[in-house]
Amino acid sequence: MQKFKEYLKNTQHMVYESLIHAFLKKKTTHAYLISGTIGSPVLELAEFMAQSFVCSNKDENHMACEECDECNKIKNNSYIDYIFYKGEDLKRDNVDNIQREFNKSAVEKANIKVYVIHLIEKAPISSLNKLLKFLEEPSSDIIAIFTTYSMMSVLPTIVSRCQIINLRQFSQKELINAMLEVNADFEDAKLLAVISNDLEKNVKLVKSEEYKTAKEITKNCLNYMLTKPDYLIFYMLNQGLARLEEIKQFDLYLDMLQACFFAAMYYKASKEESYFFKDEIEKIATSNIDIYGCIMAILTAKQEMISNANKSLVYDKLFICLAGGDNSGKRSS
Ligand SMILES: [Zn+2]
Repeated sequence: MQKFKEYLKNTQHMVYESLIHAFLKKKTTHAYLISGTIGSPVLELAEFMAQSFVCSNKDENHMACEECDECNKIKNNSYIDYIFYKGEDLKRDNVDNIQREFNKSAVEKANIKVYVIHLIEKAPISSLNKLLKFLEEPSSDIIAIFTTYSMMSVLPTIVSRCQIINLRQFSQKELINAMLEVNADFEDAKLLAVISNDLEKNVKLVKSEEYKTAKEITKNCLNYMLTKPDYLIFYMLNQGLARLEEIKQFDLYLDMLQACFFAAMYYKASKEESYFFKDEIEKIATSNIDIYGCIMAILTAKQEMISNANKSLVYDKLFICLAGGDNSGKRSS
């Protein structure tokens, strides 16, 4: 498997260079905020940095080997001097816990303690205010690493105390070219470039069975919407869903559907042909399907999936909308 370090070197060169500078010259600081678009590897970078602080087999640039015991323990969240929280789970008690644990001296031999809060924008304000007090009293052996998909939503008082690391965004052209280089079809390159800005992940995904399956199910859904909308619910609950869950790609399916409805909306406004699902999108754009309602239903489903809502309810609601049996997804004629 390719190391994360290689990914950084190949596709995030600025970040790679600045990390080498920091680790090699020992110019690290006590708090980092890693920012990137949705789907970009902010968490992977946070873990790699944590590994680089504690690795027992660092390379010539003082970066993590990603293979030793310490590196593996960070990855499995079993390193004693390491605490990981998702932003949405960060209760005030958890901040107390970080403070309490990190006031003790380090247990592992690297003698440094690292905590990661993934997607800090999702953390409750009261927890963040508590965390701020802790951040205000930096200690040389405690490192905080935060990640975000939305820099605008992070408390400015947190931002100002962190060194910012921005993962670079790729242009559509760069994303498409990278996929064409691995001989992907133009249709697939274009579809994935619309869905995600994660170049590395897209290149891996485009040739995979998971991608093919998600695409096939999306295509079937669009066709059922056009021909037998009532059957869509039956199809998804009896086949589509199980296959998507098996390959853990329900999110990809939602992203694909969303891309299609946006393309249909665009076609309606500009008559510009879509590069993917061309026939289906043209038909949807010229049908009386409520495109806007479908997009809203997909966005709602995405939001509910993040907030751990009852999954089967989320599924039912979405498929009913897509089949046109609900106000928000109904056909307008
Ligand atoms: Zn290591």
